[in-house]
Amino acid sequence: MKIFVNKIQCKHCGDIIESKTVHDFKTCKCGKVFVDGGHEYLRRGFLTKCEDDIIELSEYEEELLDEEGYPTEESLEKIKKWEIKSDDDFEKLMDFIKKLWYYPDFLKKNKNKEYTLITGGWSGNEDIIGAMKNNIILHITYWKSSERGGKHIYQSLSQEIKTEKNKK
Ligand SMILES: [Zn+2]
Repeated sequence: MKIFVNKIQCKHCGDIIESKTVHDFKTCKCGKVFVDGGHEYLRRGFLTKCEDDIIELSEYEEELLDEEGYPTEESLEKIKKWEIKSDDDFEKLMDFIKKLWYYPDFLKKNKNKEYTLITGGWSGNEDIIGAMKNNIILHITYWKSSERGGKHIYQSLSQEIKTEKNKK
C-alpha cells in the first residue's frame, strides 16, 4: 500500500489530525482517537469501533505488485473475493488480472471473449491462477480448461453457447 496522506477526523470533537512521519503520533483534542504511522502504515486508536469514532480522510493506493514483480497478497485477495454477478464483472476482473500478469502477451482475449492465460512458468502467474481457482463463482461459471504446461482458458458460459450457435 502506498500512503500519500494519513489523516482522520474525530467524530466526537471534530478535530482533524494527520500523521506525517512514521512515529508522528497525534491525538485529537478530546483524546478519544489517535493517528500514527505517517506514510508507512495506517495505525489508529479509537474507543469502540473505528467507524463509530473516526472519519477517514486518508489517501492511499493499493500496490498491485511487489518490487520483484510478484502480485501482492492484497492483489491475490482481491481476485479471490472479486464479486461476479455478470459477464461485465468477469471482464473487469480479467482486466485487473491483465495488469498483474507477467508477460502481458501471454494473456489474450479473442473475439468470442475467451481468455487464454499462459503462465510461462512464472510463479507469480501460478499464484494468480491459484487465486482464480479460489474464487468459486469464477471457477464454476468461467473456467473452461487447463492444460499441462500452464495454459488456462476462461470464458463465460453464455458466451460459449453463443459461439457454438454461430458455428452451426
Ligand atoms: Zn476527539
